[in-house]
Amino acid sequence: MSTKYVYFFGGKTAEGNGQMRDLLGGKGANLAEMCLIGIPVPPGFTITTEVCAAYYEHGKKIPEEVLPQIDEALKRVEALVGKKFGDSADPLLVSVRSGAALSMPGMMNTILNLGLTDASVEGLARKTNNPRFAYDSYRRLIDMFGSTAMGVDHDHFEHELQQMKEAKGVKLDTDLNAEDLKELVRRYKAVYRKHVGDDFPQDPRKQLMLAIQAVFNSWMGKKAVEYRRIERITGLKGTAVNVQAMVFGNMGNTSGTGVAFTRDPNTGENVFYGDYLINAQGEDVVAGIRTPEPISRLKEVMPQVYEQLCDIRQKLEQHYKDMQDIEFTVQEGVLYMLQTRAGKRTGTAAVRIAVDMVREGLIDERTAVLRVNPESLNHLLLPQLDPKANIKPVAQGIAASPGAASGIVLLSADAVVEHHEKHPQDPIILVRKETSPEDVAGMHLAVGILTSTGGKSSHAAVVARGWGKPCVVGCEAVKISEEAGTITIAGHTVKAGEYITINGTTGDVMIGKVPTVLPKITGDFATLMEWADKYRKLRVRTNADSPADAAKAREFGAEGIGLCRTEHMFFGEGRILAMREMILASDEAGRRAALAKIEPLQREDFIGIFEAMDGYPVTIRLLDPPLHEFLPHDHAAQEELAQSLGVPVAKIKERVDELHEFNPMMGFRGCRLPIVYPEIAEMQVRAIIEAAIEVHRRGKKVLPEIMVPLVGTIEELRFIKQRIVAVAEECMAKAGVRIEYQIGTMIEVPRAALTADQIAEDAEFFSFGTNDLTQMTFGFSRDDIKSFMPTYLREKILPVDPFQSIDVKGVGQLIEIGVRKGRESRQSKYGQHLKVGICGEHGGDPDSIRFCHQVGMDYVSCSPFRVPIARLAAAQAALGDIKRDK
Ligand code: PEP
Ligand code: MG
Repeated sequence: MSTKYVYFFGGKTAEGNGQMRDLLGGKGANLAEMCLIGIPVPPGFTITTEVCAAYYEHGKKIPEEVLPQIDEALKRVEALVGKKFGDSADPLLVSVRSGAALSMPGMMNTILNLGLTDASVEGLARKTNNPRFAYDSYRRLIDMFGSTAMGVDHDHFEHELQQMKEAKGVKLDTDLNAEDLKELVRRYKAVYRKHVGDDFPQDPRKQLMLAIQAVFNSWMGKKAVEYRRIERITGLKGTAVNVQAMVFGNMGNTSGTGVAFTRDPNTGENVFYGDYLINAQGEDVVAGIRTPEPISRLKEVMPQVYEQLCDIRQKLEQHYKDMQDIEFTVQEGVLYMLQTRAGKRTGTAAVRIAVDMVREGLIDERTAVLRVNPESLNHLLLPQLDPKANIKPVAQGIAASPGAASGIVLLSADAVVEHHEKHPQDPIILVRKETSPEDVAGMHLAVGILTSTGGKSSHAAVVARGWGKPCVVGCEAVKISEEAGTITIAGHTVKAGEYITINGTTGDVMIGKVPTVLPKITGDFATLMEWADKYRKLRVRTNADSPADAAKAREFGAEGIGLCRTEHMFFGEGRILAMREMILASDEAGRRAALAKIEPLQREDFIGIFEAMDGYPVTIRLLDPPLHEFLPHDHAAQEELAQSLGVPVAKIKERVDELHEFNPMMGFRGCRLPIVYPEIAEMQVRAIIEAAIEVHRRGKKVLPEIMVPLVGTIEELRFIKQRIVAVAEECMAKAGVRIEYQIGTMIEVPRAALTADQIAEDAEFFSFGTNDLTQMTFGFSRDDIKSFMPTYLREKILPVDPFQSIDVKGVGQLIEIGVRKGRESRQSKYGQHLKVGICGEHGGDPDSIRFCHQVGMDYVSCSPFRVPIARLAAAQAALGDIKRDK
């Protein structure tokens, strides 16, 4: 049997179903499914994603064997509707839309009203008795077809429309009459001919085939490629194409169109949420051109339709057991559903919906845990305006995506990208009239988005929610002047580069910066976290080097510290000077004298951290970075230091020069430091053990783990271990207290992973430092990737940045070897389980966490704010599924 490329749907039958997302795309699969469960859908057919792949394999040509299947399916649609495609007396018109397996809102092409020609537009005008509508549909087709299928700049059409409106002295498109629109069609056709070099096609089938190709072409378009890159979407075959009988929301006041969510996508509350527009086509709602009405008002305007829509809302949720994002059109009082899909939602909403649905008996706990994308929890950890701050909103828009953000105003996405390149630290608020898919790169870099038009379903709102970025839309008090580079908000002028604050939870806009505070884990969030904790096997620790961070991480559920980077403590006030003195000292006695000044401060730090961790293990790493990082490099600072220490500036300069290294990340750092200067490690170990003794005396349990960085050979570890043990024993003997402590190592150098069996003989634990391990495995300097990584990703030389997500094939192999050899050796030599964790940045990345789970690590360690994300990701890894709630 030949391969099936085209799947028909219509009435209560469909050849596909909701499970066939990979083949039919999300939209196609769900249109089929809606037919099967008896929801009214205009008939149509879906051309599979395999055809898209074949289209590119055949040098951008639709394979011959697909064509008869398209014709066949079109005939079935014609039969069901009772009209012929493009017929001159009473034409069937169709829409052509993209739809990949994962939703990519607004990223690919849509063409409506296909099948209209000079002849059929007349037929449509007569049949509907509405020439205005017929010509309006025709001019929209020429515009959409010209710009999306044939590459004509949409502005050329827009220009003609503006000219016509000016000539007629009208403001709105809807004020143009049938004759005006007829004339506009003539002008649009001239624009088309001028830019395409051919007439607008009068053969409906030709229109259809070109439109299908346009959808396939858009799969590799800049917007779509960019979106997939940002969302890390890989491995899809392509987009499917949905060809569907047109229904019209723009046939007068008994027609309309809308988009809605079955629950509130911001908060997750179980209420019907959305917008509609009377006498409009679908694109008008999504583009945010006209500000639509809230869905609840439809109850008054079209009570029957509203009731039917509410039934469908129920039916869809019961069927899909998830919150749905729907599109509908009402044509002369008759309701049609055009789309349903799992709705994008904020992290806050994702959590509430998952927990509510368990309570409602729709899903079970495991499904709830698998439902929430771990990254989306960021949203619940977003800063909120400090309730104690003096908050004076100057305007209010629609709260489109929660969280508060302060940032400098910039007026275009390009300006955001440009500014970010030069000043990556600056928080930016992108302020626009509305956003479009072209803006995604800038939107992604902004900390918040503010638009003056658009509703809850506008592009800005949908995209910001997906990313968990604060967003306020439809704020009419904001007037933008791009020429002047300013905005005015209710009479206040703000220049580009000046600060404003937005609160996406309330819709408020404030001038200047407003302080923010961090939320706590309570309510539904806490419930979901409890469920996650039931299923996960990995423990979750945190990387923290201050009591405040340690306490925050505990609140977020950290079960210990996996990495305390002691070097951060040396930069503090009153310490850096002693540290510099130590580095500048010419002999051991001088170094010891300087270290003695730091020791009590270090001890206090450790006491604070042990207290905060209250019985959970604390891994403290001995000093790691190259010493030159502690010294000033510019002349003025060197002079200041010379004065403070009472030494000649030349001496400082000489020492800085001496410490200069060509490749410091592979130079005098890590365990190499205490091998040359054991007194540094001795001071640190004394501070750790004495702090532990002190906290123990206060009646708290302490579990210190002393970690040696950058070990490559067993001899390095042994050398340092001897000193650690000697100092620790001495401290404990002196105090008459025994503290249980462990000595372990980081695995950051490939040689350490390869010789893990030997290293495990002297290490009670391993912690994979995947930042350095990635650096040394690839030979990429971790601080110097910006000049080539973007190209590597764009050219698909690497699928993802290996510093963000573990490179399973290479670095992952070293980790597997390290875990296996280390565990086997420790077990056979001492009958002990070797504890293994990870403390590189990857410890907070869900994909990497899945890998850590698979290789059987005991724990991951990540920054405090990623602890909840790691808990959930670990549970999902354990549940053996990665069904993401997109
Ligand atoms: C690592 O290398 O992964 C690590 C955690 O250490 P640092 O980032 O401090 O070098
Ligand atoms: Mg490291």
